[in-house]
Amino acid sequence: MDPSTLAGSPDGLRQLADLTTVALEALAGEASRREGPLPAGGPAAMRTAADETPETFIPEHGSDPADVVRGLTALAARWGVDLANPAAVGRMQCAPTAVAVAAELGAAALNQGLQAWESGPFAALLERRLLADLAALAGFPPTAAGSMTSGGTASNLMALLLARDDAVRRRAGVDVSRAGLSSLAAAPRVLCAAGTHVSVRRAAGFIGLGSDAIVEVEADRLGRMLPQAAEAALARMQSDELPVALVATAGTTDLGAFDALPALAAVAARHGVWLHVDAAYGAGALFSERLAHLVEGLDRADSIALDLHKFGWTPASSGVFLTRRPEAMSVLAQGAAYLSTPEDEALGFSSLAGSSLQTTRRADALKVAATLLALGRAGMQELVERCTDLALHAARAIDANPRLELATEPILTTVVFRCRPSRPAAPLEEWDRLNAGVRRALMQEGRALVARAVVPDRAGRAADHLKLVLLNPATTASQLEGVIDAIVATASEIDPVESDG
Ligand SMILES: *Cc1c(COP(=O)(O)O)cnc(C)c1O
Repeated sequence: MDPSTLAGSPDGLRQLADLTTVALEALAGEASRREGPLPAGGPAAMRTAADETPETFIPEHGSDPADVVRGLTALAARWGVDLANPAAVGRMQCAPTAVAVAAELGAAALNQGLQAWESGPFAALLERRLLADLAALAGFPPTAAGSMTSGGTASNLMALLLARDDAVRRRAGVDVSRAGLSSLAAAPRVLCAAGTHVSVRRAAGFIGLGSDAIVEVEADRLGRMLPQAAEAALARMQSDELPVALVATAGTTDLGAFDALPALAAVAARHGVWLHVDAAYGAGALFSERLAHLVEGLDRADSIALDLHKFGWTPASSGVFLTRRPEAMSVLAQGAAYLSTPEDEALGFSSLAGSSLQTTRRADALKVAATLLALGRAGMQELVERCTDLALHAARAIDANPRLELATEPILTTVVFRCRPSRPAAPLEEWDRLNAGVRRALMQEGRALVARAVVPDRAGRAADHLKLVLLNPATTASQLEGVIDAIVATASEIDPVESDG
């Protein structure tokens, strides 16, 4: 096989079909030998993995493409995490559907771009159409704008950027992107809760507001921002402070908690502050009639972050940023003649370059559109609800096990709990040590992949917990019980109870 054949040519398409078969056979071969979601042996096993890789990835002379694809794909599968394994319940990282991956292959072969009209005329049309449908699903008007992004982190950054420019323009008549923040006399403020995703705090730093601009609004035990506390924080703002945004969360990363969006939208509207809703995880609720009440009020946000690579069964990157305020997108305009010119734009050769932080940008909409077309809204609802049912099932099994303590009822598809030490009156450090130890032991053996969450215990102290993230709708109740049994068995090995023998 000629390694320089280009995928899109007739010869290339034949070679691609052959190489795809080679890759898929390698994946199937490795999958049949898997024993758990992670390779056994932990970090030490990665040294063995390193020994299996070629000495250099830049050899003087290349080798047969089929051998390369077979060898490297097999290594990646053998030493990677198997997201389709029912015991892979640790990361907010879904196993993608076959239809999504097939569409992604097509997109990669076409390698369309969104940076100029001629980089991908249909890719731009597809993204616009998909965003319009997602905006409508979120309850936004047809005038809404947005962009596909690399994920919630980038969407949250875009939100704060747009909110910053909007707030400063209205307050001081200054175009921050041009003049910078130094001309701003007031101290910018971003209101969020302690459990707001870390990317919001980082974004405040990146865009020059400083992470000190974050004002932490009081939240309840589940981490839901108290609307009256947000109201009070805004009412307390001094004349030398500038509230830039109120950031709410629809589906927190640990407990899956949803802020009271209607109440927060009313607070934001009263104070003329940009409301951004981080629904990176909670977006799944948009597809489910049963969960729709959780995202009530989302339509009143100024902007929303959604991730379909978390709760949408598409490969990363499938981030979505939406705003009800299309005029605010102008901060992203890119005035580069090589991308587009006003004359071209006026004649319809318009590009999406001015709607993204990126220049070169992949056609991420294809796999998302294919997944949604293949499943439909009803199919998405079924998958989402199967995952929430699994979470409820896990909670019952945890409740019934004397060795385990459930932190709180699951809201979405995360289940947060911890193992109880053998000594009933053990101090908090002993609980934390046991739970951290259980998680590491499971990863080390590769038997199960569970996450860590620091949430308040029943006494309100920040405590180490274990977290199951259930995003695999094919998992059965008994497989899930098997994972919980493995957790309990590991706890008993580390910290045996006398009567355990
Ligand atoms: C995962 C997550 C993010 C970050 O999204 P990425 O796609 O990883 O960039 C932001 N917010 C919430 C609530 C998340 O769960």
